[in-house]
Amino acid sequence: MDDFKRCTLCGHQWQSRNDFLDDSSTEMVGYQVNFGELELGYFLFNHLECGTTLGISAGSFEDLYDGPVYEDRLLGAEECEEYCLHEDQLDPCPAKCECAYVREILQTVQRWPKK
Ligand SMILES: [Zn+2]
Repeated sequence: MDDFKRCTLCGHQWQSRNDFLDDSSTEMVGYQVNFGELELGYFLFNHLECGTTLGISAGSFEDLYDGPVYEDRLLGAEECEEYCLHEDQLDPCPAKCECAYVREILQTVQRWPKK
């Protein structure tokens, strides 16, 4: 059957998303936004076992969030801190921007308890 993710370098396979997030050898290191389709952005993880960086689409984590999704995009507006333009910036966004919900998911993923 299809695994959730296979490491592109060492070939390690994670069977499910929980399996991946639970793993103490995976560490979130970045978020590569896709402003065209937010769910096609990438969450970047280091696989500490082999040292490579893996990208997993933001859409794969979407169901971890069930709060409000704002309609307007505020990139370039005064309220926007432009976090999304910096791949290694993983803080939550205080603006009521369409892109902010993805950054809430980043928090959930970063705080995921490792086994
Ligand atoms: Zn690996």
